[in-house]
Amino acid sequence: MSTEADASPPTSSPSQEPMIRARSVDKYFGDLHVLKDINMDVPQGQVVVVLGPSGSGKSTLCRAINRLEPINSGEIAIDGKPLPAEGKALAALRADVGMVFQQFNLFAHKTILENVTLGPIKVRKVSQSEARETATALLERVGIANQADKYPAQLSGGQQQRAAIARALAMKPKVMLFDEPTSALDPEMVQEVLDTMTELADEGMTMLVVTHEMGFARRAAHRVVFMADGEIVEDSTPNEFFSAPKSERAKDFLGKIL
Ligand code: ADP
Ligand code: MG
Repeated sequence: MSTEADASPPTSSPSQEPMIRARSVDKYFGDLHVLKDINMDVPQGQVVVVLGPSGSGKSTLCRAINRLEPINSGEIAIDGKPLPAEGKALAALRADVGMVFQQFNLFAHKTILENVTLGPIKVRKVSQSEARETATALLERVGIANQADKYPAQLSGGQQQRAAIARALAMKPKVMLFDEPTSALDPEMVQEVLDTMTELADEGMTMLVVTHEMGFARRAAHRVVFMADGEIVEDSTPNEFFSAPKSERAKDFLGKIL
């Protein structure tokens, strides 16, 4: 795995531990080996875009990072703390990892504001008034403060996805994982979500982003990780990856999507 990009993370702190550390991670679904000896560090403040063909294990990697999927061997640590298997310790660590999916997964019968306040009140034990204050500020930040009292179905897809981002941020996560956050959106709504993500990246959030949006990768990523068949095949800067991919599999992939 290349370490060139690790040498100059623009916003990294002097902290020793990477925000995400994966060591020798293997994952099987039955006989299917879907993550093969995954080794990856994401330092604080870095934005890593994960690319790869469908079925290469990108979603499974995201889900393994906050233990929505158990792994068969290896270790995943968040901010230096290995992920516990279950229980309260797992809930606490998971709260440090915000996740945004392709499908927005908002609670349909709660308002946008309630969607954003629920986690902090239940999991972080913050007061109702503090949760509302934080949520209002976050909705402002993602540009949908005026939608706070509506229900998800009353919002456009782009607005719903920005609400989902606000909901994840309300937990004050250390890391944000995005799994194809714009893939389910109508084309005219993609940019508003990417803009929100770019702002977050510029503010120094540590992010792992599975996306096919190459403009975002070029603009916001410090590193591109290319996966194929459950393996990390390349790990380089966006410039290196897009201008001179090393593997045949990456060349083939880029040939199909660019
Ligand atoms: P990607 O996100 O890169 O498209 P996934 O991580 O979703 O890839 O899937 C990797 C492989 O694991 C695929 O072959 C997929 O069919 C398989 N897979 C994913 N989830 C499951 C599951 N819950 N049970 C069995 N196989 C799965
Ligand atoms: Mg996927």
